Amino acid sequence: MHYPSEHAPSYYAATRHPSPPRPPVKGAHVADVCVVGGGFTGLSVALSLAERGFSVILLEAVMVGWGASGRNGGQIVNSYSRDMDVIEARHGRTAAEALGGMAFEGSRIIRERIQQYGIDCDFKEGNVFAALTGKQLAELEHKKALWERFGHTALEMVDAAGMPRIVDSKRYVGALLDHWGGHIHPLNLALGEAAAFESRGGRIHEHSPVVRVEQGDPAVVHTAEGSVKARFVVMAGNAYLGSLIPALAEKTLPCGTQVITTERLDPALARSLLPTDHCIEDCNYLLDYYRLTADHRLLYGGGTVYGARDPGQIEALIRPKMLKTFPQLAHARIEFAWTGNFSLTLTRLPQAGRIGANLYYSQGCSGHGVTYTHLAGRLMAEAIDNQAGRFDAFAALPHYDFPGGRTFRVPMLTMGAWWYGMRDRLGI
Ligand SMILES: Cc1cc2nc3c(=O)[nH]c(=O)nc-3n(C[C@H](O)[C@H](O)[C@H](O)COP(=O)(O)OP(=O)(O)OC[C@H]3O[C@@H](n4cnc5c(N)ncnc54)[C@H](O)[C@@H]3O)c2cc1C
Repeated sequence: MHYPSEHAPSYYAATRHPSPPRPPVKGAHVADVCVVGGGFTGLSVALSLAERGFSVILLEAVMVGWGASGRNGGQIVNSYSRDMDVIEARHGRTAAEALGGMAFEGSRIIRERIQQYGIDCDFKEGNVFAALTGKQLAELEHKKALWERFGHTALEMVDAAGMPRIVDSKRYVGALLDHWGGHIHPLNLALGEAAAFESRGGRIHEHSPVVRVEQGDPAVVHTAEGSVKARFVVMAGNAYLGSLIPALAEKTLPCGTQVITTERLDPALARSLLPTDHCIEDCNYLLDYYRLTADHRLLYGGGTVYGARDPGQIEALIRPKMLKTFPQLAHARIEFAWTGNFSLTLTRLPQAGRIGANLYYSQGCSGHGVTYTHLAGRLMAEAIDNQAGRFDAFAALPHYDFPGGRTFRVPMLTMGAWWYGMRDRLGI
């Protein structure tokens, strides 16, 4: 895996808060836990462990938040990419009850951390699932009932007549508003969490790609210039881990998704697009997601394209989607366009587990990872601290290899995406 030396050129990188230098690891070091990866998963487990008194060293290949965590849509979406009804049908009631009991915890953790550590990341309350068809609206009614069964008390259905209150677009027939969701500047959240971890005595080394993990007790984690000997190792590299741990690489497929950001809009125009300032995702399989930034831009994402794309291509891909939703932005200039990788699993449920007794991992949020990664970090910290019950509820789910091996995974998924795109277009 080749890693660059800087953040991808995104709106987030251009508006990130300053952070201290975090030099590469050099020489031999010892810690209770070594975390590989400085995205939300790695930062969440590192901070949770530091709060519990563990000594933790986090190694990041590029810079904190360089991966998906620092370039995503910033949408705080509750639950998982597959919901509790699917979990119950596939894995039984016990699994559904256990995971359902944690489905809204990730968003609570984010709020707690923002508050406890005073993190400035443009946090706004509320996310909206917008329906394009009557069938999708019925599915949202079902989601509301399901989430209420698991204790959610702040969900609101919005009918077609109520939509202009939320979004100035003609595309939707209704929506579900989740007051426990929200949105953030994700890179500034990651940087705030990194500072919080360091304030608890944690150490972060950037520009420190891990090249080998020597399993054992203790394990030894190697970079080109240094090593960390630790009782526990946590792999949190997700879609950017490459084949460092082949058993993990086989189980996920890195997928690209693209985001654009307009120039600063007239504040009145920006407010008219999204009067309540909630973020929105639609209910298509290949979904569009968007929100306003704190400086009155529209940040719009969508699509799933494989392979790197330059900004011009990304704009050509996403701008038509944005204009379909908001034709009134025909004259708005696009200032940023970037791509990022998330990690897809065959079941679309995240994978958490152990390899041997002391190598932990969590990966594969399949598109919705901002809340789950925060939860996963807490669960791995609990397990390392001898309270494995909740972590084991996740670890008990089966993790399937992607069929087709490395050569055929991408073409197969491209065909799958084409099929689901077709379904979205036909409304079936
Ligand atoms: C464009 C985009 C938009 C998205 N929008 C949303 C959204 O709005 N809401 C939502 O819920 N989810 C969204 N997601 C998904 C979400 O961002 C991810 O699920 C989540 O951020 C994954 O976090 P992570 O920490 O597991 O991985 P990442 O954030 O990718 O972090 C992994 C880190 O590990 C490091 N690493 C990898 N290998 C090594 C190594 N060998 N040595 C050292 N370090 C290593 C990488 O450099 C990277 O920084 C989006 C994803 C993308 C790409």
